[in-house]
Amino acid sequence: MLGSNIFTGPPDVSIELSPGCIFCSIAEGRTPCYKIYEDNDYLAFLDIHPFVMGHSLVIPRKHYDALPDMEETAVGELFTVAARVSSRVTRGMSADGFRLIQNNGEAAAQVVKHVHIHIVPMKLEDKDRRFGRLSPTDKEFREVADAIIRHS
Ligand SMILES: [Zn+2]
Repeated sequence: MLGSNIFTGPPDVSIELSPGCIFCSIAEGRTPCYKIYEDNDYLAFLDIHPFVMGHSLVIPRKHYDALPDMEETAVGELFTVAARVSSRVTRGMSADGFRLIQNNGEAAAQVVKHVHIHIVPMKLEDKDRRFGRLSPTDKEFREVADAIIRHS
């Protein structure tokens, strides 16, 4: 069911030139993404420049610049969704564990100023490896999203 909601094609990178918020645009369905989870208030999709295959982002649909701007109940909900999606990502990628990364502010290398949590599935053999950013193909993104959605 969620699989049918995955948008076709890679995200429109030209949107990065827009003064608007890219994650708000994704949440509103104006910018495509490889969606792996959604409910009324939260959305998860594959990071377009992943550290590893399956690297995903969880966002609230409502815009907050960073975690301290959120109501405490929303913080709790965001992390609850992140935990739920992390299990699916871990199983879908046959990983052994996962990292949650949550950056706030320029000093913390927060690139998109819309609060988000990174989910990075980890395999035992990679635990000491340093990661660069990957550039998967559309087909690879779709296969990863399908594998994660199958574990929903
Ligand atoms: Zn936003």
